[in-house]
Amino acid sequence: MKYHIKTFGCQMNVCDSDWLAQALEKRGWEPAAEEDADAILVNTCSVRDKPEQKVYSQLGRLKRDNPRAIVGVGGCVAQQVGERFWERFPQVRLVFGPDGVASVPESLDRLACAPSLRISHLDLFERYPERERVWSELRQPAQRFVTIMQGCDNFCAYCIVPYTRGRQKSRDSAEVLRECEELVGSGVREITLLGQNVNSYGRDGSGSEIGFAELLERVCSIPGLMRVRFTTSHPKDVAPDLIRAFGRLDALCPALHLPLQAGSDRILRRMGRKYTQGDYMRLVEALRSARPDIVLSTDLMVGFPSETEEDFQRTLEVMQRVGFDSSFSFKYSDRPGTRAATMPEKIGEQIKADRLRRLQALQEELTRQSLRALRGKTLQVLVEGAGSRDNGDVRTWRGREPGGRVVNFALPDHRDLIGSMVCVRVDEVKKHSVYGEVVDEPW
Ligand code: SAM
Ligand code: SF4
Repeated sequence: MKYHIKTFGCQMNVCDSDWLAQALEKRGWEPAAEEDADAILVNTCSVRDKPEQKVYSQLGRLKRDNPRAIVGVGGCVAQQVGERFWERFPQVRLVFGPDGVASVPESLDRLACAPSLRISHLDLFERYPERERVWSELRQPAQRFVTIMQGCDNFCAYCIVPYTRGRQKSRDSAEVLRECEELVGSGVREITLLGQNVNSYGRDGSGSEIGFAELLERVCSIPGLMRVRFTTSHPKDVAPDLIRAFGRLDALCPALHLPLQAGSDRILRRMGRKYTQGDYMRLVEALRSARPDIVLSTDLMVGFPSETEEDFQRTLEVMQRVGFDSSFSFKYSDRPGTRAATMPEKIGEQIKADRLRRLQALQEELTRQSLRALRGKTLQVLVEGAGSRDNGDVRTWRGREPGGRVVNFALPDHRDLIGSMVCVRVDEVKKHSVYGEVVDEPW
């Protein structure tokens, strides 16, 4: 039997899809192109309106291109729409929410044998549902994600996540460590700990007796693990022990994704973010004194209800002052059931588009500055995959330096370098990456 997975949205969905692929292969399924697959899983996102519309158009297209395949819909849209998918798209025979992922491989086996069966896994549990171990038997890439928590208790005014992914639940720390150790045992050299708000790990009383800084310390001590990252962090929950960890833990990469959302205190208050521009700037200062080379990235939103040009200028101002290396930026979009959806003073599409364009232009400039500062430096790069500039005998490779920036380089031999560490001296700066020359033997 053959499967195909389509993934939309955040890294949590990417991580779930990764696990699904490996779990299905362990059961004998083979990966295939969409048109040849016996089962197609669509892992969805509903954080903004557009991704949700994309799911509906994908399902319409699948009906036309591969009408015989079993279709399963997972993720946030599945949690919201649930079994109503069956009425609109009869080809959909499996729906699963974020807590139902663990049951999908077995369900697909059952669906393949019973053509009139439909299955839904939409319950949200109080505890993190552990999944079958699938990692150790297959060769792993250099980098892997490990989920440490699910859901969120913050209820930011614009956000649908607490409704679709449920309340926060931390995963048992012993299970997190076991999975990390297994991955390192099978060749992984970098692990990213994943959750909607990893800084509040352990504070929900559902799975762990330790907090995030302690978990981080234990993960960083796993022998053979060279790099650790984590995402996403809420600024209000970055505790002093976590800031100190950046100065203390060798394996912890000097990189932090710290969503700002907006620079205006008035907008931050209406968003329910529970910090001010001043709090955010003090946090950045503390992080930079603990780890001067820390690379900061962020999430930004334009056009939140009632945002004025003056408010928007505060966002640009913080961007300049922090000098973010990169950012994900979005136009505010109404999500049903959230507080912001009921707020009056919605901002027009054109104004939002114009603010987003100006914000992204500034980000391009900041990214350019951050990359230019790397010229002439020698960086330790973990190779993640092939590059795009191959010519005859010379193969190119792509990896990341500790700060998370993409580094490309060429090597005139045919070794497989994926998972290797390489020292690269940067001699060319591109729009979103740098290019350089290898100065040492890969290891
Ligand atoms: N937990 C993270 C945090 O505290 O920032 C973010 C998770 S959220 C799934 C990812 C990003 O999507 C947010 O940081 C926000 O910028 C964006 N986002 C969430 N809801 C949105 C909405 N209604 N409209 C536009 N962007 C939104
Ligand atoms: Fe959404 Fe706020 Fe939770 Fe992030 S912290 S997932 S933005 S509710």
